[in-house]
Amino acid sequence: MTSAEQSVEQESNLATRNESIQRCIASLEHAVQCKEPECDRAECHKMKRVVTHTRGCRKRQESNCPVCKQLIALFCYHAKECHLEQCRVTFCQSIRRKLEEHKRLVELQDDLTTIEVMEAVINLENLTLEDGSSQEDVEMVEPSTSCS
Ligand SMILES: [Zn+2]
Ligand SMILES: [Zn+2]
Ligand SMILES: [Zn+2]
Repeated sequence: MTSAEQSVEQESNLATRNESIQRCIASLEHAVQCKEPECDRAECHKMKRVVTHTRGCRKRQESNCPVCKQLIALFCYHAKECHLEQCRVTFCQSIRRKLEEHKRLVELQDDLTTIEVMEAVINLENLTLEDGSSQEDVEMVEPSTSCS
C-alpha cells in the first residue's frame, strides 16, 4: 500500500469517525431527556442503560469502570461545545466546571481527548451490558425506489 493510499484511507476514516461521534452525542443528548420507555430510536435504549449505569456506578469515582469512562468521555465532548446555562445533560455542568478549572491542561490534552472520545464511541457501539438478547431492530431508512 502506498502512503498516498494510506492517507486517503485515514482521512475517510476520520470523517466517518467524526460522524459517528456526532451521532453518538446526539443519541446521548436525546436519551438523557427521553421519558419514553418504548422509544423507537434504536440507540435510545442502549444509551439509557449506560446513563442509568453511570449514575449509580460506585466504581465511577475511582474511574476504574470502563463503561463509565467511555460515557464520561462522550459527556466531556458534549460539555466542551455546550454553553447552555441549564443544560439537562447529565454531568454536563459539573464537567464544564472542571473544564474551567483545568482549562490550560485541557487545551494541552485536546488531541488526546479527541482520540479518547473516538475510542469511546467505537467501544460504545460494540457495547453490550447485561442483556443476553442483543437483537436490535435497527430500521434502515433506505431511499425508496418507487418511481411509477
Ligand atoms: Zn428516546
Ligand atoms: Zn460504571
Ligand atoms: Zn450540556
